Amino acid sequence: MKITDLNVMILEDDEFQRNMLVGMLGTLGVASILDASNGKQALEIIHGPKSEAIDVVLCDLNMPEMDGMEFLRHLGAGHRNIAVILISALDSKLLTSVGRMTELYGVQLLGVIEKPVLPESLREHLLKYRLTTRKVPRAAAPSFALDEILAGIRADQFVPFFQPKVDMKSGRLTGAEALARWIHPDHGVIGPHAFIPALEQTGNIDDLTFRMLRKSAAALRSFHEKGHRLTVSVNLSLVSLDDTSLADRITQAVCELGVDPKFIVLEITESAAMTNVAPALENLARLCMNGFALSIDDYGTGSSNIQQLTRIAFSELKIDQSFVKDFADNKALRIVVESSIDMARKLLVRSVAEGVETQRDWDGLKLVGCDTVQGYFVARPMDEAAFHKFVADFLPF
Ligand code: C2E
Ligand code: MG
Ligand code: MG
Repeated sequence: MKITDLNVMILEDDEFQRNMLVGMLGTLGVASILDASNGKQALEIIHGPKSEAIDVVLCDLNMPEMDGMEFLRHLGAGHRNIAVILISALDSKLLTSVGRMTELYGVQLLGVIEKPVLPESLREHLLKYRLTTRKVPRAAAPSFALDEILAGIRADQFVPFFQPKVDMKSGRLTGAEALARWIHPDHGVIGPHAFIPALEQTGNIDDLTFRMLRKSAAALRSFHEKGHRLTVSVNLSLVSLDDTSLADRITQAVCELGVDPKFIVLEITESAAMTNVAPALENLARLCMNGFALSIDDYGTGSSNIQQLTRIAFSELKIDQSFVKDFADNKALRIVVESSIDMARKLLVRSVAEGVETQRDWDGLKLVGCDTVQGYFVARPMDEAAFHKFVADFLPF
């Protein structure tokens, strides 16, 4: 969409600044300009007869009565298809936080502009609207009863999708993470959030884990047979680690398929609520002795903390995607990512950044010496057949 087709609303309590923005938008050729001096009035306009016409709201934060944050909460709750540009004189750390909040409330954020607003910056942000696909309110993800999930497992409807991991220095493909997908006969491809929690909570996760492990190992063998010495990463649930027979069962399953455990990476997260630490450590020590590589997944989040680094014999640190996404543009994220990579280097383990979506993030990670990258920028998770093709066609980055 061109800027000249956009319908923009200005929400700004200060009359002088509001008029300035109206003038600026006029000069940029914006098709329709509405303005409101407080959040309540803005919501009335949005929910009024003209609502369909609004594409973007320029939103000030510091306003009497209803502040910008409250307005954004209501905007999100209304599920309108309206994008937002935050405009404020507040400190940039605070703006970043409000930006995050905006997205979490389900509002599409085009960016943040610090006052005073310059026409060029406004134009740049409005142009992003054209580039951003409109958020269609998501149809509620189907939810499944445990019985259905278990029936699906028995019917062998669960398969690993593979997402490539690329070494930053050489640009080469080093392996893939196996991510569980349910190929549902009626609903198509279903992601892990729809079944993992139910399986974990009811003590049924091992069924899935072992299917994933066997299928991933079998796939790995066929990659190797074609001359691609890749590794495959499989996610382990923490609850499985309670049972001290787990390590031997995993080792046996993999060896039965003729695969050397050194090509299998086991990804683990640690829940803050983990109580049975000793059996988990026993399993992990045994897996490590049997040749598996251990990876700390989602590093930096509540479920994966710094304590693990001191007690697990891991060889890979996966920095959680919430830090990686847009890290190049955010000072605090940059420091967190950089120090995690630095720490991995000092601990002599590989650093992996997950959730890399843009060239900018890739460049930034390369600059700070990240070892391996996984994310949509390289490729989305895909089924085994597609991954075979991907491997065959792959050209180093
Ligand atoms: P995870 O292990 O941290 O896997 C990475 C998740 O990030 C995957 O989501 C992947 O599709 C997604 N992802 C990768 N690159 C990007 C990117 O550039 N942008 C964004 N926005 N997302 C990206 P997925 O497949 O939905 O899996 C979610 C979680 O479910 C996994 O997180 C893992 O914890 C769990 N999971 C998946 N398969 C299994 C399994 O077989 N067993 C167990 N226990 N857990 C699994
Ligand atoms: Mg993982
Ligand atoms: Mg992760």
